[in-house]
Amino acid sequence: MDMGQVLTAQKADEKNTIWMAVLLIGVGLSGVISLLLAQGYKTTRKSLSRVQAFSEHLMENMPMGLVVINPQEQIIAFNKTASAILTLPVSEARERQAAAILPPACLEIIDSLGEGRGLIAKEMDCPLGNGRTVPLEIIASRLQDPRGDVLGAVILLRDISDVQVLKKEIARTQHLAALGSLAAGVAHEIRNPLSSIKGFATYFKERYRAVPADLETAEIMIGEVEQLNRVIGQLLEFARPTTLTLEKGSLTALVEEALKIIAGEMGEKEIALRKELTALPDISFDKDKMKQVFLNLFLNALGAMDNGGALTVKSRPVNEQWLQIEIIDTGPGIAKEDLGRIFDPYFTTKPSGTGLGMAIVQKILTAHHGEIKLESEWGKGTRAIILLPSGTGDALMTG
Ligand code: ADP
Ligand code: MG
Repeated sequence: MDMGQVLTAQKADEKNTIWMAVLLIGVGLSGVISLLLAQGYKTTRKSLSRVQAFSEHLMENMPMGLVVINPQEQIIAFNKTASAILTLPVSEARERQAAAILPPACLEIIDSLGEGRGLIAKEMDCPLGNGRTVPLEIIASRLQDPRGDVLGAVILLRDISDVQVLKKEIARTQHLAALGSLAAGVAHEIRNPLSSIKGFATYFKERYRAVPADLETAEIMIGEVEQLNRVIGQLLEFARPTTLTLEKGSLTALVEEALKIIAGEMGEKEIALRKELTALPDISFDKDKMKQVFLNLFLNALGAMDNGGALTVKSRPVNEQWLQIEIIDTGPGIAKEDLGRIFDPYFTTKPSGTGLGMAIVQKILTAHHGEIKLESEWGKGTRAIILLPSGTGDALMTG
């Protein structure tokens, strides 16, 4: 037997086996590697889409309007808030040229970014396409990659109407407080000499009873002094801090009382009275001051109806928290441009008006934690709506 042949065959076999093993290991390894690669790709894709979804959510739910433009000034992102602020549907904004749809104020700011300023913040009134002008806070910044190449610009928008209303209200309150203390001082000084003048006028009236011309002059003097006193009384009422004397009672009963006081004047002017009073729960209020509120409102309503008409007074509980009283007249109403100034002290359209009535009404209602709204259409009459908390009681502030 030739062992040499067997050995050679055995060797060749071993070699084959080794090659086979190497091949198999190679195939196995590349399988494992490609499996790992596929897995990695899947994970990367998943996290990429997660990041994408997150940034989309972030953009959509941002409490500010967001607009992004590319270097060609084409809009590449425009979120829901921006759409609401600019009253422009998202679909109409994306991919359009910024110049075609953004308000001029925004474009101006984008232009200044081009001049090399990195970040700009401004508050400005933006006229929008629909004719409205909205105060906006606009913050714009250039969008750059880490190498410094400009990718476009980011513009953030915020509607600051509410903030501006608040700012105006604060300025008004400060203005009124300063005006009030000055007026109170002056009014006080005027009151004393006025009462002496009235005293003398009354004396002359008695003394010259026999001379009709002098008597008339004295009577005019007394009348004028009384008018002055009324103006000063209102001024002091307005300027003094409101201190409430609270008592629990029925508001509708008070309304009836105030109506009785104006009944004579209503008769003379042939004004019809329509009462729609639903009983209200008793609340705590300052009787004298609230009576002044109703009288001021009734007298304004009568003053607006020189040629007759109807005065409607309604009361009803609105819900658990609020009571409502409405005073409606059929007078000429209030011109649109005046409506915002009715509560301003000294705003009057009447030759002998003081312009303090509505300011006092508002002050008294505010002290009762209530409020008043006026609705009026020129030519159709005026509706004053008073809201008072049903729970008006211990927690009332004065001041
Ligand atoms: P005054 O009555 O002294 O003018 P007010 O503060 O009471 O001052 O009212 C301010 C202005 O508001 C009035 O001059 C009037 O122009 C307007 N006004 C108030 N109530 C009415 C109303 N019911 N109808 C029409 N105008 C009104
Ligand atoms: Mg008045």
